[in-house]
Amino acid sequence: MNLRDGLKDKKRIVIKIGSSSLTHPETGSLDLIKLEILVREISDLRNQGKEVVLVSSGAIMVGRRALGFLNKPQKLSEKQACASVGQARLMMIYQKLFMEYNQIAGQILMTKNTMLNDLNRMNARNTFQELLAMGVIPIVNENDTIATFEIEFGDNDTLSAVVAALIDADLLILLSDIDGLFTDDPHTNPGAEFIDVVESIDAHLLSMGKESTGTNVGTGGMATKLTAAEVATGAGADMVIANGEDFHVIHKIMQGRKHGTLFLSNKKDEFYLIDFLDKLK
Ligand code: GLU
Repeated sequence: MNLRDGLKDKKRIVIKIGSSSLTHPETGSLDLIKLEILVREISDLRNQGKEVVLVSSGAIMVGRRALGFLNKPQKLSEKQACASVGQARLMMIYQKLFMEYNQIAGQILMTKNTMLNDLNRMNARNTFQELLAMGVIPIVNENDTIATFEIEFGDNDTLSAVVAALIDADLLILLSDIDGLFTDDPHTNPGAEFIDVVESIDAHLLSMGKESTGTNVGTGGMATKLTAAEVATGAGADMVIANGEDFHVIHKIMQGRKHGTLFLSNKKDEFYLIDFLDKLK
């Protein structure tokens, strides 16, 4: 049996988009054509009766552009200000585009505290459940306007895996500026080989993670993606890392076609989300 056939039947899907997949590299402004494709792809999944959560980065990037920062803001307060402006703009555009397809989007902003505090975590879970039951597409980001070092996830790869675990998603799709997992960094080693399917994550595989993405926008490198894979698969979800250059890849992945690296779920009885989060403290 083709290991990817199972992807067709996934019902609750978390899709994570990095800043570099949403913006024009030359200017940092939003790539509206790409966003339209993303929204159409997600709306079509909804039309198939699937539940979809979108974890979208881009708040800081969009705010940076609006406020005239040429480079990544260095000061925490600047980063927070950029996120405040950018998150609102980003949501305005998502709302507008999803409305065109008769879909309702909601916003959930989280920090690590949302997950570590028992009451907050239960509330967040209930809100997700309620939104999904209502047919809403929750759009999630880190609450960068108030997140400081102590309470931030730091990257949306980890956040999306934590969300997948929290809501018992059966699939997490990470779309980034890389095609998937290679045996080494393909930018520096032309002999690096592409890995199609990962059946279990071991120490050797984790050592293949590289720290940087090669862009100056997102925060997650391959190492954070492998951590995300550990969390998502341990919690019982499959995960696909694929290139977000063309968002049409979403329906191709869902059809079980060969795109990106597939990490098969490996639900661990001893997997406790809270233990993982404790390690991040
Ligand atoms: N939360 C950040 C933002 O929306 C991005 C984090 C990331 O790129 O992983 O700008």
